[in-house]
Amino acid sequence: MDLPSHFIWAFALFHSQPWVWVAVVFCCVPDFLWFFPRLVKVARHRGRVPFTDINDMHTRHLYRTNHSIITAAFASLLAFLLSTPEMAIGVLAGWALHILMDIWTHRGGIVDGIRLFYPVSDWKFPALIWWKEELAKRPWIYALNLAAAVMVFVLLGG
Ligand SMILES: [Zn+2]
Repeated sequence: MDLPSHFIWAFALFHSQPWVWVAVVFCCVPDFLWFFPRLVKVARHRGRVPFTDINDMHTRHLYRTNHSIITAAFASLLAFLLSTPEMAIGVLAGWALHILMDIWTHRGGIVDGIRLFYPVSDWKFPALIWWKEELAKRPWIYALNLAAAVMVFVLLGG
């Protein structure tokens, strides 16, 4: 899914938890960790390289690493060791939610699916749709997405 959706859904689901903002931040982190290095590379080459390049193995590796439950578990463990158990729960909840949202919606794109156990395994989750392509065809799906998030927010106590 897209970054605003990750932010909104993390807040909708976890807003009553004391670690809500940790979860919201770490629900966005997996995309920032490949997006910014790629942005720097494009800027360094003064726009001569495209932002989405299917042959850029570095970006693919970063993306797959950041969308792996193994990385999410390590990040949570690190938060536990360096901070508090509450922080670790927030990190894991946010990161796992990000992956859960992406596995169904990332059939295409430069990364070609989510590798849940990367780098141990290259197996990719059989996604149903490619979110970006689906939104281009049926933009009203975004309104449904937002309405569902609002409904969940209200159902979980507003
Ligand atoms: Zn993602």
